[in-house]
Amino acid sequence: MNVLLIGSGGREHAIAWKLAQSKNLSKLYTAPGNPGTAKCGKNVPIGVNDTDKLVDFARENDIGLVVVGPEDPLAAGVVDAFEAADIKAFGPSAAAAKLEADKVFAKQLMRSSAISAAEGRIFERFSDAKAYIASRDESVVIKAAGLAKGKGVFVCDDPADGILAAEKIMCDRIFGPAGDKIIVENKLLGEEVSILAFVDGRNIYLMESSQDHKPIGDGDTGPNTGGMGAYSPAPVVTEDLINRITREILVPVVDGMNRNGTPYKGILYAGLMITAGGPRVLEFNVRFGDPETQPVLIRLKSDLLEVCLAVCDGRLDEVTLEWDQRPAVCVVMASGGYPGDYQKGKRITGLNEADRIEDVVVFHAGTAVKNGDIVTNGGRVLGVTALGQTVADAKARAYRAVDKIKFDGAYCRRDIADKAIKK
Ligand code: AMP
Repeated sequence: MNVLLIGSGGREHAIAWKLAQSKNLSKLYTAPGNPGTAKCGKNVPIGVNDTDKLVDFARENDIGLVVVGPEDPLAAGVVDAFEAADIKAFGPSAAAAKLEADKVFAKQLMRSSAISAAEGRIFERFSDAKAYIASRDESVVIKAAGLAKGKGVFVCDDPADGILAAEKIMCDRIFGPAGDKIIVENKLLGEEVSILAFVDGRNIYLMESSQDHKPIGDGDTGPNTGGMGAYSPAPVVTEDLINRITREILVPVVDGMNRNGTPYKGILYAGLMITAGGPRVLEFNVRFGDPETQPVLIRLKSDLLEVCLAVCDGRLDEVTLEWDQRPAVCVVMASGGYPGDYQKGKRITGLNEADRIEDVVVFHAGTAVKNGDIVTNGGRVLGVTALGQTVADAKARAYRAVDKIKFDGAYCRRDIADKAIKK
């Protein structure tokens, strides 16, 4: 079968790497892809939001399955467009993708399905939001309701900072219409985990747990980023907790989406805070996380193509998910300056030496080819991912690989997975 993968980040390289192992794959195309996905198949120069061209390409190239990586095309209805053209596409419809694309929709669904989340209030007018935030004397979390490339959340320990954040979103409109509404939430304390599941509208198959590292600096300091590294499994997620998360969160979401007339198919990603009172939802995403996908998929033994097809056909109960029991660690190498301004076009060396270390895969994210060299082309450049007998072993292996890779201004956190090792 020919497959078209949509996206160009580290997540998509990990998906492409895994799809390329399928015995049922004939040709893999990635639109637009990156130099990493080019090693797994052929890159196609079509943007992720160019729906008409993507559908035409799929028609012309006998595509049997489309796998969508990022949230923007899902929210814009790319899956609906493929289905209208009678082409199978892995991911939720636009109506179901609102679970991520519209935090007000998600909040209302959680309320009507009695799912535990941070207490929150929705505001459409800055003056109302300001008065409410000013009346609080504890930390607040301010969230733009729409898609803001992962940057729409401000955790403010001082309510005055919360008012400034609300003003930036609602008055300065730094996220455009994504900030028409905001949610003001209580700040939750605990450890964060990501739970990803395959959902076919009815069946829910959990993947192994993982934990992301959002802040730029060691010890979780500094501003938030798209994610500086991840490990899987997350020891904080015990069997008991898995059962609670399934029973109290995932099943009610899938049931609620069915009741709502927006059945859910694809990846359901729950970003959770494990508080003293149990798991609470921070957000839902409607696609694989980046960089959690890298350590999770390196551990998946089952055929991803088969699983994606089973999701599309609503027969997930016919497949089994098998996992490598070894833990995995992914360290993100970023351009100096990220998440602020950074330069592009820096030549990267040592990629092959790093890749040659046993059980290491270097996933490309923001890279490009220039005059035959691989160069930096984004904030997050590479996701250096390793399996190990223990988390400490996987971490050591990942950093051994990181230390082989050089580019001007290369930056990474040095403490990825320490939380898991301490446990
Ligand atoms: P979100 O995109 O909603 O997951 O938010 C991004 C990050 O902000 C999360 O990964 C958390 O670190 C943090 N965050 C979001 N909501 C809350 C909350 N209610 N309490 C504490 N931290 C939060």
